[in-house]
Amino acid sequence: MTTTGIDIAALRQKYAEERDKRLRTAGNDQYLRLTDQLDSTEDPHLPVMEREPVTDHVEFTFIGGGFSGLVTGARVKEAGLQRVRLIDKAGDFGGVWYWNRYPGAMCDTASMVYMPLLEETGYVPTEKYAHGPEIYEHCQRIGKHYGLYDDALFHTQVTEVEWIERDERWLVRTNRGDAFTTTYLGMGTGPLHVAKLPGLEGIKDFRGKSFHTSRWDYDYTGGDPSGAAMTGLADKRVAIIGTGATSIQAVPELAKHAGELFVFQRTPSAVDVRDNHPIDPEWFASVTTPGWQQRWLDSFIALWDSVLSDPSELDLDQEDLVQDGWTDLGRRMGAAIKGVPPEEFSLERMMLAIEATDSVKMTEIRARVDSIIEDPETAEKLKAWFNQMCKRPCFHDEYLPSFNRPNVHLVDTDGQGVERIDEKGVVVDGKLYEVDCIIYASGFEFYGTDAVDRAGYDVVGPNRRRLSEHWAEGMRTLWGQQVHGFPNLFIQQLFQGAFLGSNIPHNLVDTARTIALIVKHMQANGYTQVQPTAAAEDAWIDLLLTHGRPLGNAECTPGYYNNEGKELSLKDRHNVGYPMGSGAFFRMMDKWRTDATFEGLEFA
Ligand code: NDP
Repeated sequence: MTTTGIDIAALRQKYAEERDKRLRTAGNDQYLRLTDQLDSTEDPHLPVMEREPVTDHVEFTFIGGGFSGLVTGARVKEAGLQRVRLIDKAGDFGGVWYWNRYPGAMCDTASMVYMPLLEETGYVPTEKYAHGPEIYEHCQRIGKHYGLYDDALFHTQVTEVEWIERDERWLVRTNRGDAFTTTYLGMGTGPLHVAKLPGLEGIKDFRGKSFHTSRWDYDYTGGDPSGAAMTGLADKRVAIIGTGATSIQAVPELAKHAGELFVFQRTPSAVDVRDNHPIDPEWFASVTTPGWQQRWLDSFIALWDSVLSDPSELDLDQEDLVQDGWTDLGRRMGAAIKGVPPEEFSLERMMLAIEATDSVKMTEIRARVDSIIEDPETAEKLKAWFNQMCKRPCFHDEYLPSFNRPNVHLVDTDGQGVERIDEKGVVVDGKLYEVDCIIYASGFEFYGTDAVDRAGYDVVGPNRRRLSEHWAEGMRTLWGQQVHGFPNLFIQQLFQGAFLGSNIPHNLVDTARTIALIVKHMQANGYTQVQPTAAAEDAWIDLLLTHGRPLGNAECTPGYYNNEGKELSLKDRHNVGYPMGSGAFFRMMDKWRTDATFEGLEFA
């Protein structure tokens, strides 16, 4: 028993039992890709327009039209490049916000830090946590502001990229017959762009309607992403499979409009308070003095990242500008670490302190379930039994109350998941739930699958060496951004850099700054090639493999955070972040940019 009155040993035992129920030998192989499984895997949002293949030359090409491509495109335009081409398989900019238009979609991180380039575009978000349509619209705003539509190619998938030695350029080929060249190549297809389905028997046999949450079919459901009533569901029995961050947001909307809603749960999420509210433009004007967004990003990272940083650097007295669920989590863990007397400090002692504060928080979150849910049996099933950071923390104020509605039924599978699908509906533990529509809120491939395979194309570098070969034993980069042997190639992704210890758009705007500085340096000095030195890349990888900490923890309930509970292979162990945490990574990169000696890179 601790001073908080919580029996930590009993809690550990309960958490372990709940985890063990959910461990399955297949790991990531339990999932399937959408292709060939459901009727509607194409783009439900915009029609594909005919166009002529493109065969020109541009200065910078970025594969991916989400936040990565937009912020990189913006910064290299500011650096002086004119021809910047973003390519995306979607019909417009937006990335995850293009695809994920499910009802209720909103951002879990405060808009002031999540929405990039607010200061540059002068946009004032309307809510503390903006809804999907507003974020999607902001993507278009960035595209227009920086003239990124001029050369963009949408509904276009890159099939191969090849280095042309003689011209010192990349040749990009696509599924639309394009074959154009580019001086610089950027890649940033995002960590959540390959949707996955549970590998259930019978998915194809279902006779009703089915789709993944990232391919929402409003033609069928009625309504729209901004919240219009889904009248098409009024007389329907609807199933949603999965209860992760997406489902938490979609369920309240479905609950309002579906005749009957069946929520199939394998593991309940920990759902904390959301407390969204409109942004008052007067307040906004009073806090947004020049340089405000970077100050907010720094404030967020300093508080949220505290657990990964050097505890002696932790400053808990600093002002929390952002005040969202993440900085609350960071402050709490930071306070726990600070509470360890310096003479007793060790990694083990620190982890115990974090566990103690976590048990208080999770007890609070479980008590919240009891205080909202009217039926005690349902309440019990909605309680999450794991440490808060084992799975993606969720924040919502309407999710739990949905289960008090008479038309909403929780089908808890006690950690076993849906058994199978048949032509009439969903089967759990031998019982068939007949439904008209099945919505898969089953997530996306994250880091348990091969990076080049997820991207959907390979990069053929000098001497015909492929990126898939260079990364056969694990990803190799300098700072997660450039690859030795692959000149003029820049990558926007999470691993081997700031990783997930931060608000992801912060990673992207920071990397975009580095890329733009390198490009500017090359233009100013007439260089035609840049790449990291072999020594710099090797040293970086050694550091990561020696000291890098993976995201998840084997003792956690399985999920994408901990590679579905499977032991990490050597290849997986490359998917880590900078050992000292995101804040320290950003400070290191900031110093590197300020020094401007370009250490670690070789130019030709
Ligand atoms: P998740 O991977 O988080 O959730 C998938 C869900 O499907 C889990 O509940 C999983 O259960 C369940 N599931 C899988 N297989 C089965 C099965 N056989 N039977 C029953 N249930 C099953 O995907 P999401 O789309 O919810 O979220 C993905 C990520 O997207 C989030 O973690 C977050 O990073 C991001 N996101 C961000 C938002 C934002 O605000 N910025 C909003 C929404 C999402 P189990 O837990 O047992 O594996």
